[in-house]
Amino acid sequence: HAIVRAMIAAPVALHARRADFPALCRPVNGLPLIYLDHAATSQKPQVVLDALMTAYVERCANVHRGVYALSEAATRDFEAVRHKVCSLIDAPDPRGVVFTKGTTESLNLLAHSLGQRFVQPGDEVLVTQLEHHSNVVPWQVMAKQRGATLVVAPVDAQGTLSLDALSRKLSPKTKIIACTHASNVTGALMDVRSICQLGRQVGALTVIDGAQAIPHLPVSVQELGCDFYCFSAHKLLGPFGVGVLWGRTAILDTMPPWQTGGAMVLSVRETESDYQPIPQRFEAGTQAVAEVIALGAAIDYLQGIGLPEIAKQEDALLQQAKQCLRKVPGLRLLGSEGPSVPVISFVLDGVHPHDVATALSAEGIAVRAGLHCAEPLFSALGVRGSVRISLSFVNTIEEIERLCTSLVQIGVLFR
Ligand code: PLP
Repeated sequence: HAIVRAMIAAPVALHARRADFPALCRPVNGLPLIYLDHAATSQKPQVVLDALMTAYVERCANVHRGVYALSEAATRDFEAVRHKVCSLIDAPDPRGVVFTKGTTESLNLLAHSLGQRFVQPGDEVLVTQLEHHSNVVPWQVMAKQRGATLVVAPVDAQGTLSLDALSRKLSPKTKIIACTHASNVTGALMDVRSICQLGRQVGALTVIDGAQAIPHLPVSVQELGCDFYCFSAHKLLGPFGVGVLWGRTAILDTMPPWQTGGAMVLSVRETESDYQPIPQRFEAGTQAVAEVIALGAAIDYLQGIGLPEIAKQEDALLQQAKQCLRKVPGLRLLGSEGPSVPVISFVLDGVHPHDVATALSAEGIAVRAGLHCAEPLFSALGVRGSVRISLSFVNTIEEIERLCTSLVQIGVLFR
């Protein structure tokens, strides 16, 4: 009994799940792959690849249009994923789940549609200095088109966004706050709940870019209190080409469509059309049916493990990784201490980040280098780029130790 109790009590090391990911089990250039770029895209477990293949073999039909069995089955499986998304983000109503191509498309849709509906000349839209370009450029374009002003809440020299700095930029003119849930450069988690509260106080809508948060922690849009939440399937163990825009149905209901054409209309006359109710109003054209179904498999897989357990084990690995990296001579971690997802940026004294990444690649270690589509943040950090490692529960401390050994050698070699 004691042995059984010990087995039950012992946490299962999630890195054993690596065996579920075929891409992580094959060598690259003859070397075992150490994949530390999950923030760019995650590798896909076999169950997701199987779901994708099965969808193409057994459900290859357009949704919502056919009355034959194949199309009905495809529609049923496709629509079931809206419910799975609701369970993933604790959303109350599947009508609030819109499928898009990814976070970028979700944010473009919002900038266009919310701009038309809510933004007048003289109004303000607030973003923060640590946004990914996907959560900056669409708002820049919209603000210009609507005669509004784009206001940027600054971060400090460590890349930290304080609520004070953000609230100083708010005013009754602020119509929209667009903010990331977690930085794709430093991993820092934003206090989204408080930001949404501040937004409500001035009557602003809140758009949260969840691309980097959703793979790593339990998310409840109801607890966060946001109006919109966006993410990409491909960073969530799912396929490329699919994303989600979740919105409060009461607001989505009043918003004009972005893309138009087939599937989003109820009736079309020669010079006018009536649109479908949400969510179809925002899903013009043929959808990525198989990919949406495979996103459903990715959600099932993650929920099968449990996001609280993923968060716990990834955070432990993150802390170990930081300790290990701090011992590398000449290495400086960017960002500050505080809650974060397992994403770390650093600079290695005297070595260009691209040289670091190239040298690591020769050792079979995949990391990102550069500005990570977040140029405004790098002006605040005062560096011209970084090396970024982004972890997942499939990584091990042995992989981090291999990384650190290589970094020590690279430092010696290049200096
Ligand atoms: N937002 C953040 C925080 C990101 O990290 C990324 C991608 O790296 C995006 C948005 C854009 O995601 P996608 O390219 O999947 O549209």
